[in-house]
Amino acid sequence: MTLNRKHIASLAASSLAFGLACLARADEPARGILVRSERIAPGFLADWKAKGARTVVVILDESSKDEWPRIARSVADGGLDLWAWIEVARNPALADAHPEWVASLGGHHDDWRKRFPNAPRGRAGEGIKAWPWVPIGYTAAYDAHRARIKALVSDLPGRWSGVYLNDLQTGPSSCGCGNDQCRWALDYGTPATTARSPGDDAAARLVGEIQKATPGKTVVPVWVMECETIDLPGAPGGTGLCGGVGCARGDCWPRNARAWNPLLALGCPIGLGLWSETFKRDPDHWIESNIKLSQNQPSGAKVLSPDRAIAIVQAWGLDPRALANRQALVARSTPGWILALDPIDQSWKPTLAPVK
Ligand SMILES: [Zn+2]
Repeated sequence: MTLNRKHIASLAASSLAFGLACLARADEPARGILVRSERIAPGFLADWKAKGARTVVVILDESSKDEWPRIARSVADGGLDLWAWIEVARNPALADAHPEWVASLGGHHDDWRKRFPNAPRGRAGEGIKAWPWVPIGYTAAYDAHRARIKALVSDLPGRWSGVYLNDLQTGPSSCGCGNDQCRWALDYGTPATTARSPGDDAAARLVGEIQKATPGKTVVPVWVMECETIDLPGAPGGTGLCGGVGCARGDCWPRNARAWNPLLALGCPIGLGLWSETFKRDPDHWIESNIKLSQNQPSGAKVLSPDRAIAIVQAWGLDPRALANRQALVARSTPGWILALDPIDQSWKPTLAPVK
């Protein structure tokens, strides 16, 4: 049976058919750019189409939503496919309104202090937080994020294909090791400041709920691979990114798998956030090796097949030659890729919050 557009639309309307709706796109992998809305102009789009782009992902937030009719028209006129990008967990407004929802830095380790020598020290009744990361793993934060995302995507006008949801994991350096890719733990060895959602599958639940709310669109979670063997203490030629903290393979690996596997079971593509320079990695080696890691994760994490992976690569601030090299590098490594031409902020700073 072949699926025509009408079939796909009616299948997508059924909550059981997300996998099929996603598979219908598998023969045309994402290839293109991720930009702020100000960049969208006919010449810019024509230029990127000539360079092989067919996908344009535009950052959608409370300020750019009003511009969406113009954006959708320009991208359609340019013969390209429009997607939205929503930053989820890194949210200064929500973090300021609800300090108790901000991600904790792990209480078993304080190696992160080497990066923040002037960080405050909590007294009794206070916990250290990674401002402004508000993970969806807290029940009240989950509800607030879901309401915000629904408000952004509902009644979004014009033709658009789907939405990328960035940072559905816990905050950076979640065990306290200092590694920005360490995102497996919520309140690791620290007293909670708010109630947690049960289980480790909050990301899959949120993606599923947004998928239901946007029939016919594809929802793509964007994931960051966890810290790597070369980051561990004593690794020959290592990065030192995990400080003196050894690998918690008995805890971190299974928990990572319990968050990752339900996402894969949804059947949709998964974006890999490859913020190479931000994560102090050499892009020439790390981008390809990190894509491979998603296909070969340890301890029970299922394999992401290459046709479902979308590599989203740091590409801001590069001169034209370096940008062309970055595009060639990622296009060689995987069928689906997006060049992020505008910064995706992954920074954080330690702050104090009262512990209830
Ligand atoms: Zn860690």
